[in-house]
Amino acid sequence: MKILIVEDEAKISAYLQQGLSEAGFVVDASRNGLDAHHLAMTEHYDLIILDVMLPDVDGWTILKALREAGRDVPVLFLTARDSVDDRVKGLELGADDYLVKPFAFAELLARVRTLLRRGVNRTTETRLSAADLELDLLSRRVTRAGQRLAITTREFALLELLLRHQNEVLPRSLIASQVWDMNFDSDTNVIDVAIRRLRAKIDDDFEPKLIRTVRGMGYMLDSSDQS
Ligand code: CA
Repeated sequence: MKILIVEDEAKISAYLQQGLSEAGFVVDASRNGLDAHHLAMTEHYDLIILDVMLPDVDGWTILKALREAGRDVPVLFLTARDSVDDRVKGLELGADDYLVKPFAFAELLARVRTLLRRGVNRTTETRLSAADLELDLLSRRVTRAGQRLAITTREFALLELLLRHQNEVLPRSLIASQVWDMNFDSDTNVIDVAIRRLRAKIDDDFEPKLIRTVRGMGYMLDSSDQS
């Protein structure tokens, strides 16, 4: 699941990025309002963490613009101002929750999970599956044939992407931008190595094999039973 952090204070932003990455989320960060607005309008996020006081456009304005454009992504406000007016204003503008600074990371993570659960219930499923492979987005468990598999947070993100686009060929460049948040040179083998490790866990001991290499193009999770 992908989260956008909008926070101009470098220290807080780095702290959130690290914590949320370690918790298994794919994270983008923006330090100002205009970039944040652009990202929120062009990329898909499951949640936006939005600071109110930003150097250019404030958080209220961004939220208002997103809601007016029909974007219903959950928004968690961060505010340094603990006034009732601010909270009411945020909620009226369509924020889903808010947190007053300073906050404990555990508290933020709990709010994030609650909002994601709500968002998932509102729009989509909490589980993704193909054949007897299941991925639970909330508990972050992966099972195959009922057997729990130990996978890393990066492998989880990779598998989530493959499952969301099962039976579609995913080019390496797309996998790189969605799972690593960066662009790789086409000759890099980082993705191939990650796929090999993932395969060893989800495919080696099971049938049918789900991950297919599409030569010269990329990878595909094939859920049509080819056995
Ligand atoms: Ca700020």
